[in-house]
Amino acid sequence: MNIFFEIHKDIPREGPGDNKFTKRAFSLLKDLPEKPLILDIGCGPGMQTIELAKNTEGKIIAIDTHEPFLEVLKGKIMAENLIGKIDARKGSMFSLEFNKNTFNLIWSEGAIYIIGFGRGLKEWKEYIKPGGYLVASEISWLREDIPQELKDFWESEYPGIGGIKTNLAIIKKSGYLPVEHFTLPKSGWWNDYYNPLMERIKILEIRYSEDQEAMAQLEEEKKEIELYRKFSDYYGYVFYLMKKD
Ligand code: SAH
Repeated sequence: MNIFFEIHKDIPREGPGDNKFTKRAFSLLKDLPEKPLILDIGCGPGMQTIELAKNTEGKIIAIDTHEPFLEVLKGKIMAENLIGKIDARKGSMFSLEFNKNTFNLIWSEGAIYIIGFGRGLKEWKEYIKPGGYLVASEISWLREDIPQELKDFWESEYPGIGGIKTNLAIIKKSGYLPVEHFTLPKSGWWNDYYNPLMERIKILEIRYSEDQEAMAQLEEEKKEIELYRKFSDYYGYVFYLMKKD
């Protein structure tokens, strides 16, 4: 039995992030219309969706393939009185079902790695209006001298991980102008993601103490967290802001 989604349940975010930095990235987009149409791809439980909605007069369509996350987001939309401003619906980043040149902004935090940074930039671009923006946060090397243990882990988990320079080159090659980029501080990994995830793991370790397979999965999650604790100077989440050329 795969308990991935049981581990990734009831936590505020599904990847590193921080509302302050969602807000900051959004505030750096200078040429948006007053009421932009925004697509949030891989919204998860939607912490960043809600933050975006609070900072815009526009509308947001938020998509994810995992319905329980969409249900969580729908609950927040009700609680925050944002009905009509956010439309949370099932949809895949691999097959966007929209007309071309639809969005003023495509947003994606901690999710573009699923399709791959280069492929996501390329395929999503046609849904952005000319002069519109794409903002994506992506795990990135922050230094060149990566320890072997760390390299080995990420090469098996996500071989697409690249350095900031490499990603900026991909942005240009894909027909965007880089607008800005900045690294999420370490607190953005702990506060709303790894700390609640560790609490969740503790509960599940009791529940699944007799289940070897589940325990092995929990170990893997812990390994990822411990590697970050050890090597957080070497990699991070970088927000890349770009404009469709
Ligand atoms: N943006 C959220 C979630 C990031 S985790 C946050 O920062 O908290 C990545 C998300 O991508 C998960 O919610 C996962 O369900 C979703 N996902 C996985 N495959 C997907 C696909 N093919 N299309 C859209 N979303 C997908």
